[in-house]
Amino acid sequence: MTTEEINRRFAELVGVEWHDVVCASPGDYLCSCGKRFESSGDYVLHLPPYYHTPDYCANPVLVLEVMMKLEYWGENWGVTIGSMLDKTGKIALEAIKWIEENT
Ligand SMILES: [Zn+2]
Repeated sequence: MTTEEINRRFAELVGVEWHDVVCASPGDYLCSCGKRFESSGDYVLHLPPYYHTPDYCANPVLVLEVMMKLEYWGENWGVTIGSMLDKTGKIALEAIKWIEENT
């Protein structure tokens, strides 16, 4: 999985809205979060980088925060010092795997 795919899958699993182009034809712009726009200007401002979607791969602490909020902290889902310091998405992948298998 690419870091984009990891970020997106983790967001889906934990209920975080993801903003990405679904349809972009003049007068009808649809985002993956379900919002529709008539103007391309409003649409562009709704998407990254203007509208921030979390980069869980580059910021492993965000994964820990979400997992703690969901009360998955203390579960054995593969957290190590190495994965906490990794910026390539290791901890997000471990979290995805654990959530898919255990929830
Ligand atoms: Zn959106």
